[in-house]
Amino acid sequence: MSLSTVTLKPGKEKSLKRRHPWVFSGAIAHVAGEPQGGEAVRIVEPGGAFLAYAAFSPQSQIRARVWSWNEAEPIDAPFVGRLIRGSLERRPAGPVQRLIHGESDGLPGVVADRYGDTVVVQLLSAGAERCREPIGATLAALSGVARVYERSDADVRMLEGLASRTGVLQGDAPPARIAIHEAASDTRYWVDVAQGHKTGFYLDQALNRALVGAAAKDRDVLNCFCYTGGFSIAALKGGARAALSIDSSGPALEIARDNVALNGLDAGRCEWREADVFKELRELRNQNRSFDLIVLDPPKFAPTPASVERAARAYKDINLLGFKLLRPGGRLFTFSCSGGVSADLFQKIVAGAAVDAGVEARIEARMRAAPDHPVLLSFPEGEYLKGLVLQRF
Ligand code: SAH
Repeated sequence: MSLSTVTLKPGKEKSLKRRHPWVFSGAIAHVAGEPQGGEAVRIVEPGGAFLAYAAFSPQSQIRARVWSWNEAEPIDAPFVGRLIRGSLERRPAGPVQRLIHGESDGLPGVVADRYGDTVVVQLLSAGAERCREPIGATLAALSGVARVYERSDADVRMLEGLASRTGVLQGDAPPARIAIHEAASDTRYWVDVAQGHKTGFYLDQALNRALVGAAAKDRDVLNCFCYTGGFSIAALKGGARAALSIDSSGPALEIARDNVALNGLDAGRCEWREADVFKELRELRNQNRSFDLIVLDPPKFAPTPASVERAARAYKDINLLGFKLLRPGGRLFTFSCSGGVSADLFQKIVAGAAVDAGVEARIEARMRAAPDHPVLLSFPEGEYLKGLVLQRF
């Protein structure tokens, strides 16, 4: 089969030669053929030399995503199967983990999380969409789970011209809730794979939940943007005196409350508030409340490069308020999951917030996503989650 050929403009081959896996629309001189959404194409240098095979995405600014740098290897279902096998084999066997982390695992636009007997998959690019059937079948066969459930309902699908889709991809329907055990912090959580955020749970924070648990003994904890209570449960399990947790999502808080019982913890030590964190932090400040350990894990404030400035103000605002509510000697665990906000910029924003709050602090540790969310060295965009453990003087 002859593939369509995408020829790059002079100079635009450089990033591919550094093995960066994206071809932007502005880098393309011309396309020979009429590749459909997700179809494999040959990417060539201005002089015609082969660079890579990639999945074509006619509607996206990211016009093609690299499948392979090897001209001898055809892009077909067995090829995709080998990529999935490699991704699974790189990870230690375990019932709860991210199995496929997109570009960083060589599978652009493919995310798969395992929750026991269920794998939840997100197909976020035209290329991923086109391989939907082999991805589902291979994941089911190699992981041995009872079902693969699809949650292709993220906003980024729109940029690829893809409609949202959810439902069973392989096997039977998932139960309304799945109980998982997170080994790092020895905690248990209910996961609603059909209605929860993303694939149902934030596995990227697994090691950071363990850090919070280890620092929580006898502490008064404030957990902002708590979702289903991950950091609160880890803190309580670690011996926290009390945890006040805030999120704007009622259904998430319902699960959070049930997670307390699932872990055999004392519900009397928890308070759950359905509220806007920006408002609630000001309320707490007005009430002269203070805490020994504060977690700030907001949603992606900067989904696009254009929104970085507004996002910076939002990060500064919550961190400033967080510092003000933090007792001397207390610890702030603060995160950003915006790809467009670098670790450097995030640290500067947080430093500015401390100055404006009139407090001093030291960085005790830097946090990132768990190792089942690797970052391809040639794809720094993969480093989306960054966090700081700060101790106030
Ligand atoms: N820390 C969580 C993940 C947080 S995801 C964990 O470890 O599982 C971000 C959360 O912020 C979501 O649950 C979302 O409902 C909530 N959220 C978004 N904007 C908010 C706001 N302004 N106030 C309160 N919660 C908000």
